[in-house]
Amino acid sequence: MLNKKTVRDIQVSGKRVLVRCDFNVPLDKEDPSIITSDKRIVESLKTIKYLVNAGARVILCSHIGKTGQNKTLQPVARKLSEMLEKDVPLLKDILSEETKDHVMQMEDGDVCLLENTRMYEEEESNDPEFSKKLASLAEVFVNDAFGTAHRAHASTEGVTHYLPSVAGFLIEKEIAALDGEINNPQRPLVAIVGGAKVSSKIAVLNNLLDKVDTLLIGGAMTFTFVKAQGGNVGKSLVEDDKIDVAKEILKKAQENQVSLILPVDTVIAEEMSPAANIYVSDTNDIPEDYMGLDIGPKTIELYSEIIEGAGTVVWNGPVGVFEIDNFATGTNAIAEAMAQSNAVTIIGGGDSAAAVEKAGLSEEMSHVSTGGGASLELMEGKKLPGIEALEDKE
Ligand code: ADP
Ligand code: MG
Repeated sequence: MLNKKTVRDIQVSGKRVLVRCDFNVPLDKEDPSIITSDKRIVESLKTIKYLVNAGARVILCSHIGKTGQNKTLQPVARKLSEMLEKDVPLLKDILSEETKDHVMQMEDGDVCLLENTRMYEEEESNDPEFSKKLASLAEVFVNDAFGTAHRAHASTEGVTHYLPSVAGFLIEKEIAALDGEINNPQRPLVAIVGGAKVSSKIAVLNNLLDKVDTLLIGGAMTFTFVKAQGGNVGKSLVEDDKIDVAKEILKKAQENQVSLILPVDTVIAEEMSPAANIYVSDTNDIPEDYMGLDIGPKTIELYSEIIEGAGTVVWNGPVGVFEIDNFATGTNAIAEAMAQSNAVTIIGGGDSAAAVEKAGLSEEMSHVSTGGGASLELMEGKKLPGIEALEDKE
């Protein structure tokens, strides 16, 4: 659970409140004035509306894109104006006198948006002078940018050195799910971990092995485990330098009495292509010229049953190459089984959230994280600097 103060714990009426949101939304490639998914804006509204209704003067800020790309938040300002049904001006230069004058003249309930924080190199270098100037615009800081909470940047961590700092509702919700439900779960706690690489999931696997009752493996990492156990993986993606790690993980599962389950069957093809013919093989015995690209039908059945009997299910990493329809069946079936289940269902990871969204099942889950990297770090058991820097609950 979040042991940090939230907007509920402080007095905001009449105060200038700097709110760090995650407005890093995807923009249309042809026409960058079009936002292709407004999920992150929608998720930020609860905190913003709360502050507006409480009579705060709300100064929003966020990054969009990478440093050097100099993308504008203008489309976000427009979207916010629509959604809040009030004018949300975009203040183009964070450090200018004009911006200072604007915020000093705001009235209770007004909202404005500062331009992309990553237009300044000082943002990512967490420059103290820049942080101080940003902080000087406000009297209170609220961090609600869960998607960037794993980064100590000026607008996430730097400003907390100069202002009383609390969490917003989105961060509270993300922590309740990804920390609260996983560390204090309805049992049995079942995790599904897939994706491409063992290497990017070692920390997640190790952390989850201390908590879960059952660990279901999917995705390409399956084949590093299978090879570690002496099976034939054909041309499947394998990390030969992680075979020892896979062996250690299998041993830890045994020691912790976690039932770690590998797919019993696998959808295979000669190449990772929409045009390839597909077959089903035993996972342990994939023919030489074939690669495993999705979990097979028996595995779908087995995993779905386990999900049905779970108290809590946490999923990170698609179980197949879901970007190609022929290899998306397993991933869609896992999403469907979770949607059907009465368990608490939690999705972490950027691609996993995208897969659930694509399957049209986001609304059926207890929680779909808005942060890819940040949710992964939480599932690794790490502390997030943007959250650690906030004031502790008394
Ligand atoms: P997340 O972003 O949810 O943490 P990852 O980034 O770890 O997930 O993994 C997603 C990627 O894993 C997808 O691009 C998917 O195509 C790939 N993947 C899943 N299964 C396989 C497989 N059998 N072979 C190759 N790539 C796979
Ligand atoms: Mg990913």
